[in-house]
Amino acid sequence: MDRPGRLYWWGVTMLEEYELAPTCELWFTGCSLRCRFCTVPEAVERPTQGTWMPPEALVAAITAPTVPPFRAVSMVGGDPTVHRPYLDRLVPLLRRALPDTALALNTNLFLPPGLAACDARTYDWIVGDVHFWAEGCAARIAGVAGYPAAAVAAAEAVVAAGGRLVLRVLVLPGHHACCAAPTVAWAADLARRAEGRVLVHLMTHYAPAGRARGDAELGRWLSAEEQERARGLLPAGCPAPAPGPLPGVGPRSERAVDPPASVEIGADGSVLLPFVTGALLPLAVSLRPELAPRLALLDDPAPTVSARPATPAPASRR
Ligand code: SF4
Repeated sequence: MDRPGRLYWWGVTMLEEYELAPTCELWFTGCSLRCRFCTVPEAVERPTQGTWMPPEALVAAITAPTVPPFRAVSMVGGDPTVHRPYLDRLVPLLRRALPDTALALNTNLFLPPGLAACDARTYDWIVGDVHFWAEGCAARIAGVAGYPAAAVAAAEAVVAAGGRLVLRVLVLPGHHACCAAPTVAWAADLARRAEGRVLVHLMTHYAPAGRARGDAELGRWLSAEEQERARGLLPAGCPAPAPGPLPGVGPRSERAVDPPASVEIGADGSVLLPFVTGALLPLAVSLRPELAPRLALLDDPAPTVSARPATPAPASRR
């Protein structure tokens, strides 16, 4: 990192879990892993790209009246923990400017337990990915040694420190027995022990992106059978997420503007939306009409009717 705090995109999206969406996402460059399936490889591998703003200017930008309403601010990446000196300056400013807004740290959990515990006390939510359970899979796909044990220890440290954790388990094609099954078994046990402070998000929507397109191992979607088998890992009686009573986020102002966001179209015709802004919701629903009822979970449905057409993102902003 030449300068901690570089962002390659920021804006309000619907991407995060129900408890956090809509979220103002701050996407930082750089990462401590090099996953072959990463959706943002150029931002991860070239951390000097992107823009840098003083933390005060960034807080002023995201609290401007032209920004659509949001429920939380999420530090995303890459892995934002490689920007610790910048985050240490940014978070107190966000707390002062947005005292009622949840702050979330989205991380791959490749952290020493002490830092993970510190983060658990700093943020309202830790959104942590456990990408691999098998050491060999992490080494082969993400070029990293010691990741699975470190991620598990970090998640346990978050819980022990009293933090709230969204634990994401991305199911990779062909990694049911080696990674998905043991990760879900451990995650379910952690959730039980944490008594409501851990939400497990089993992600069965893997799509090949970035360097995974055309990859012999990772260049395919999960089959319907693989998705079903992954869902079968959830403990019996595991409840489906129910929309709980959440504070509203307020109406979308006429002045609200969604930032440009890219739409990626693969050679096979698949469409990937790395940043689902309000402007892209109508597109998402037209492509996948079955998503429409889920959007009703959002307190403010205005983006689906007042969205502006999306403009392609400049290449430098992906
Ligand atoms: S941890 Fe996430 S951001 Fe980092 S390389 Fe892997 S997929 Fe990309």
